[in-house]
Amino acid sequence: MRTHHEPTGPGGKFFPPEAAAPPGVDALLDIVPAGVVVHGPDSRAFYANRYALTLLGPALDIMRTAPAASGAWPLLRADGGALPAHENPVQRALDSRSAVVDVVIGLRGAATRWLICSAHPALGAGGEVAEVVVCFTDCSELKRMEQSLRDSKERLRLMLQGSTDAPWDWNLAEPQPYLSPRWWEMLGYAKGEPGADDASWPGLVHPEDLAHLNDYVARLLASSESAYRIEFRLRHRDGRDVPVLARGLVQRDAAGKAQRISGTNTDLTAAKHAEQRIYELAYFDVLTGLPNRRLLHEQMAKILTRSARSRQYGALLFIDLDNFKLLNDTLGHDVGDELLRMVAGRLRDTVRESDHLARLGGDEFVVVLENLGETQETAVHETQAIGAKLLAALGQPYRLSAREHRSTPSIGVALFGADATGVDLLLRQADLAMYRAKGDGRNTVRFFAPGMQAAADRQIDLQNDLRDSIHHEHFELHCQPQFGADGRLLGAEVLVRWRHDVRGLLAPGEFISLAEASGLIVPLGALVLSEACRILARWALHPRLKGLTLAVNVSAHQLREPDFVERVLDTLLRSGADPRRLCLELTESVFAENVDAVSARMNALRAHGVRFSLDDFGTGYSSLSYLKRFPLNELKIDRSFVADLPGDTHAGAIVDAVLALAHTLDLQVVAEGVETRAQRDYLVAHGCRVFQGYLLGEPLPVAGFEAGFGTA
Ligand code: C2E
Ligand code: CA
Ligand code: CA
Repeated sequence: MRTHHEPTGPGGKFFPPEAAAPPGVDALLDIVPAGVVVHGPDSRAFYANRYALTLLGPALDIMRTAPAASGAWPLLRADGGALPAHENPVQRALDSRSAVVDVVIGLRGAATRWLICSAHPALGAGGEVAEVVVCFTDCSELKRMEQSLRDSKERLRLMLQGSTDAPWDWNLAEPQPYLSPRWWEMLGYAKGEPGADDASWPGLVHPEDLAHLNDYVARLLASSESAYRIEFRLRHRDGRDVPVLARGLVQRDAAGKAQRISGTNTDLTAAKHAEQRIYELAYFDVLTGLPNRRLLHEQMAKILTRSARSRQYGALLFIDLDNFKLLNDTLGHDVGDELLRMVAGRLRDTVRESDHLARLGGDEFVVVLENLGETQETAVHETQAIGAKLLAALGQPYRLSAREHRSTPSIGVALFGADATGVDLLLRQADLAMYRAKGDGRNTVRFFAPGMQAAADRQIDLQNDLRDSIHHEHFELHCQPQFGADGRLLGAEVLVRWRHDVRGLLAPGEFISLAEASGLIVPLGALVLSEACRILARWALHPRLKGLTLAVNVSAHQLREPDFVERVLDTLLRSGADPRRLCLELTESVFAENVDAVSARMNALRAHGVRFSLDDFGTGYSSLSYLKRFPLNELKIDRSFVADLPGDTHAGAIVDAVLALAHTLDLQVVAEGVETRAQRDYLVAHGCRVFQGYLLGEPLPVAGFEAGFGTA
């Protein structure tokens, strides 16, 4: 160890000068890089070499004149306190007559210097101590390092307090690292347990990670790096893997050779679980546990590559549940969620292990099939078979909240092969095919065909036409009469027709769903309502027509508009129509909205005399308790039930139940789609009082209606 104090002053001195040593020894003592002081039997110093002279300076005078026992020597204990006389190494050597070695003492001065010194007594012939030779070196630098090491140890201790990190320390001169009790605890061993002491440390590393770890350590030691950081797995006593992050510092000597590594291991088990959970949340649908859209995208990229390479066809099936929104909204989201979970379960049970499943969100699911053969024909054939299985599986009744429910899917298929274009396009194609399945009556499978894109494009054109036509009011209303059981005309329902430039007069079936989907139903509905109010105002002046009510179909979209109530009242006011003659026909989908908001709006209009009718009754999910919450005046039995009368007992039972229900709730019942006398007779016999249908009158242009019924 080098000292800061190069000997500079004169050579070593004997006090008194006559006690001189041989000149060779004197010269030698003056060049050793250590202090040498010789004390007499009275403990006073009488010789100091050059190093000692320089380092001790004025202190030497005190040591030379005062005995150690006086306590006057300016020395400090290693802990910084004053050095008591009996701890003075010279005194101790005198007292014990034996060597005192490696004592750290401080030398008070302008700056405290630290010396590590040894005191060796030299005994005379009679066994008495003749002199004490003290050797010392300056260890101030070491002491400083020790202090900073202590400080950092303290910091480490504080850092580790409250953390579960497990410390270890590896003096590289030794074969095994020191592993703290917490380190063992992390692996399930208690301190002092046989397992803990016997187990050799590399044996606890996961065999697959051992080579990697050894490599890392070897490379680190060969480098000049000081940061140690590596993740690997340890073996827990119970057999499970414990993923750990080991972090530490490499301590190197002046030559840069690594001496020890000390650090901690952090148990990453919880972090890995969290990571897994994050992965699941990011890639899987929480409700059903199926892969989500994102994972599907990632998987599809691989599937398409595989398919292109193997020249095998595959298919993407887009599954959408029919009428799911209505069920979800009327029975509650819990029931809806339950249904989705059951659907996911049935999908899992139906497809093969090698097929892929995903939930895109809402009631949309995707099944991807691979290896469907090398020709399109076999692929179509195979897919059809699986599609049929899916329809059958999903079409089975579901038990939800103690009730049995039916749900069917519409499935759109897009095939992919060697020339597959991309995930997004494929999804769009399957989506289009799914809409075709819906359009074809639902509960069915449709394949994407190139023509569908053109049809979708045509829909866009039609939508633009529709917007134009609403702007120019290219619509006309037809009125269909409604009669009482006694044959009296009670009113009419207005049904809109579109005067299309090219395609002529279009029935609602051709454009209402498009208007709904595009939101254009709102301005269109407003148009119909204001025209209907003008008709009512005109009829009010007519002796034969003034008592009639006029029913107007209102879409859920219209009712959802925040200013719906104001708009209706404003339209009534402007036209001068009597609100009591206006009946608004709603479908059950309206009730899928917020119950309170809807009934509040209905009540606001009811207060002005406006009537409400529930259209297409029996096709939705309405239950009795549900109906009671809305201020309705009327139910219209859907024409699909009327069509099956009187032969079909099921239809008959439904009609009877509706009539009984309406009676209880004090609602009027209108039977729609009455086409035959037998139907009418059955309905009359079972208590129905109002009828609408081709038997009694088809929808007529307003002028025709007024001419027919206004004059007869
Ligand atoms: P809806 O409200 O159920 O109207 C009755 C439909 O049944 C009308 O078809 C009518 O022509 C038809 N119909 C009447 N009697 C018979 C019959 O005896 N047998 C059969 N098979 N059908 C009969 P249309 O005019 O094609 O209207 C279809 C649907 O379009 C309507 O069904 C209604 O939901 C909707 N719609 C019509 N006009 C409007 C409107 O102004 N606004 C809204 N939002 N929807 C409308
Ligand atoms: Ca209607
Ligand atoms: Ca109807």
